[in-house]
Amino acid sequence: MAKTIFEKIVDREAQADILYEDDHILAFRDLAPQAPTHILLIPKKHHSRHGAVPAEDHIIFTHLFAAAQRVARQTGLEKTGYRLVINNGADGGETVPHLHLHLLGGRPMNWPPG
Ligand code: AMP
Repeated sequence: MAKTIFEKIVDREAQADILYEDDHILAFRDLAPQAPTHILLIPKKHHSRHGAVPAEDHIIFTHLFAAAQRVARQTGLEKTGYRLVINNGADGGETVPHLHLHLLGGRPMNWPPG
């Protein structure tokens, strides 16, 4: 199967503004930011979406959320607040089939989301 753009970023075949990396997670700035700070966190191992992660890989959820906490601290967002979002499937608004967590901040967020 063809690589997604996020797999290409993991493999350094596509450029990204990378802010954080560890053994499991990569974080980089969203190309089309929806807030003053908009960062994507992705597992290096490919899973198409939240609902597709098998039980034996559920540890990735811990890695993903722990990395988001680190990046929120690193960028100062923890002081003002932030939102974490996962768009899953068609109704969720998913456009890239590689599990990713949006970290958004730098302005007050609205509720309900669109
Ligand atoms: P989603 O709609 O939840 O699947 O989110 C996909 C996100 O990936 C969108 O916010 C896009 O702006 C972002 N995106 C797509 N391609 C790139 C890229 N090459 N570098 C950074 N962000 C990207």
